[in-house]
Amino acid sequence: MEKTIIVSNRLPVTLSRKDNKVVFTPSPGGLATGLAGASKDMNSVWIGWAGFALDGFHDNIEEIKLNLEKQRLIPIFLNEEDVNQFYEGFSNTTLWPLFHSFPTYTSCHEDQWEVYQKVNEIFCEEVLKHAGEDDLIWIHDYHLLLLPGLIRKKLPKAKIAYFQHIPFPSYEIFRILPWREQILEGVTGADLVGFHTHDDVKHFLTSIQRILGMENKMGTVRAEERIFKVDAFPLGIDYYKYREMSMLKSTERQVGLHRKQFQDVKIILSIDRLDYTKGIPERLKAFDIFLEKNPEFREKVSLLMIVVPSREKVQLYKNLKMEIDEMVGNITSKYRTVNWTPVLYFYRSYPLQSLSAFYKLSDVALITPLRDGMNLVCKEYVASRNDESGVLILSEMAGAAKELSDALIINPYNVEECANAIKTALCMPLDEQKRRMSEMQYLLAKYDVSKWTTIFLKSMEEIVQKQEELA
Ligand code: UDP
Repeated sequence: MEKTIIVSNRLPVTLSRKDNKVVFTPSPGGLATGLAGASKDMNSVWIGWAGFALDGFHDNIEEIKLNLEKQRLIPIFLNEEDVNQFYEGFSNTTLWPLFHSFPTYTSCHEDQWEVYQKVNEIFCEEVLKHAGEDDLIWIHDYHLLLLPGLIRKKLPKAKIAYFQHIPFPSYEIFRILPWREQILEGVTGADLVGFHTHDDVKHFLTSIQRILGMENKMGTVRAEERIFKVDAFPLGIDYYKYREMSMLKSTERQVGLHRKQFQDVKIILSIDRLDYTKGIPERLKAFDIFLEKNPEFREKVSLLMIVVPSREKVQLYKNLKMEIDEMVGNITSKYRTVNWTPVLYFYRSYPLQSLSAFYKLSDVALITPLRDGMNLVCKEYVASRNDESGVLILSEMAGAAKELSDALIINPYNVEECANAIKTALCMPLDEQKRRMSEMQYLLAKYDVSKWTTIFLKSMEEIVQKQEELA
């Protein structure tokens, strides 16, 4: 293949405005770093939304384009109305809740669907400006579900891969979507369709069978004149980056300062974006039950809970924030003593090095999403435990639970079970902690993000070869 065109909703840089100048900051996310490493060898370009509404930036467009071009990044510009309808609207209030199996939070608006189609077409036009038949077009995530099909129509021989970073719901939930055929026709334009887990693959295959009548054999689907493949590719992290970060002198210094502060109090860590998929109220309930049932642990353990602000303008998220604030307040007033705070709650985001210190400091990580495509935080915690101590309590609803079977796996809706797991984790002997942690570390080191890219691209080559043999 000639070059790789990566397409995602956002570019791996964030643009902002300071003193009338545009500032570019690299996005720290796992995908951005993982693909950035691989893309150097891949001769790639990256197409994505510039990350802000065009309004007010008109004068800077040429400057922005030139600057990004040097980094082989191609920006898509959208106006505020399109951003609202496509991103805040259809992507985040229709697809996000539905794909995370929250049908009651799913709203369906025809006008948002219209703009979703329009924006996918804008992306298509930009891709076609850069793509040749021998290039690989690698599309990422649910904002661009229609794009594989749109490109296929214009460039029938294109090599197109699609990877989805969020779950794919069961057929019974997916079928709710009024535009289910169009969405599936979009995705099935790809030659390779990837998800994090085999369950997602199974759900997708059932949906295309029931809705489009497409049959598969071991994940290979025959659709009229072409075949395409659907498979699971669990996303890894940049394992050694987290490991090395946790061993830096500066990180250790920070951990030492925190330890002094907490003395002998054990720390349970939770980190997530504010989102109803993350199970934060259920987690607080479980912690409350744990303290209620095990008074001997009061003053001996605190929950360090980091909640990163997200989608703050949306009412559902505002309500969730209020619910969490109230629950933390209730637990605090119920158990707090002069010397001890049961929940150390931070509503903000932290840079990588501070997170690394939190990972290293914490005796237990409590990661309990109600539904999560993968969940990278739990993997980062494991990678940061360089002395192999520590216990991970992990929701069975996170994609990562399929790989990290040495964690204490719980059902996040079962708050009693979660409360019991907290006690088990705090009482776990060190040799058992080390045995479980080293098993998980072995796996995460072996299947890191660059391995993920290699395996995905190899699978793409195989399906392309198979198609050539069949032609
Ligand atoms: N993260 C961060 N700063 C914070 C909290 C989280 O940079 O204060 C990062 C974290 O290291 C992880 C990502 O945000 O890489 C969250 O990814 P995850 O898959 O766990 O959840 P998502 O937010 O994508 O649903």
